[in-house]
Amino acid sequence: MTVKRKLIAGNWKMNASFSSNEALVKALVTGLDALKAQVGQPSLPDVLVCPPAPYWAQVSALLEGSSIAQGAQDVSEHDKGAYTGELSLSMLKEFKVDHVILGHSERRRYQFQNDSLICHKVFQAMNAGLTPIVCVGETQDEREQGQTWAVIKRQVMSALSMLPVDFDRVVVAYEPVWAIGTGLTATPVMAQEVHAYIRSLLEPRTTHAKALRILYGGSMNAANAQALLAQPDVDGGLIGSAALSSSDFLSIISSAVARNP
Ligand code: PEP
Repeated sequence: MTVKRKLIAGNWKMNASFSSNEALVKALVTGLDALKAQVGQPSLPDVLVCPPAPYWAQVSALLEGSSIAQGAQDVSEHDKGAYTGELSLSMLKEFKVDHVILGHSERRRYQFQNDSLICHKVFQAMNAGLTPIVCVGETQDEREQGQTWAVIKRQVMSALSMLPVDFDRVVVAYEPVWAIGTGLTATPVMAQEVHAYIRSLLEPRTTHAKALRILYGGSMNAANAQALLAQPDVDGGLIGSAALSSSDFLSIISSAVARNP
């Protein structure tokens, strides 16, 4: 049986500068090389960083020759035209950005993005050959009111609704909103329950459901990563705050190594 390679993705959000990016990426590349020498390339998880758009060229140059990929934090559903402030998929591709986070709770909240818009973005990203990382998750109120399953089902089904039967490549990130940037984390058992549920939602839609990666996000850090990543349906992490520290991010990457063959 082939064991699925995990994906460790860093969402830098609106945190970057030329100097901090250079220090962070250089430390990640060096650290990942050292880990590769220790455990071998096949045992490493896939690693992705998602800097703010103005830094794509700088980060792409710093990543040259490494196995770390670069992602975007959002993208327009439109190809080009009069959409002030937006970024298109073709722009991402020009900068070798091959993953894109979609439906992050901060975009849903501060940019008023809804399920219908996110579903169009997922469709366009897939058509353009990129890998969308689709974020879903309940708020604290929704969890307390017993609505977690209904919210997850609505967000997952809607986000994937325009994709053809048997889609592959999509990554889903379970990010309970109450755990993002708060220091609160879903317990490994809570995360596993929701991840298994998400996989059960994918199963009728695609024969690739078992192979698709479902990431956990929400205050994942060096201390809790091992236990979360040990869950059978947790295929990696989407990491915010801890992705800004090379030592924390490398420690999370090391936790993912242990689970690979
Ligand atoms: C995120 O915003 O995707 C995230 C998981 O943030 P943090 O790790 O800081 O909770």
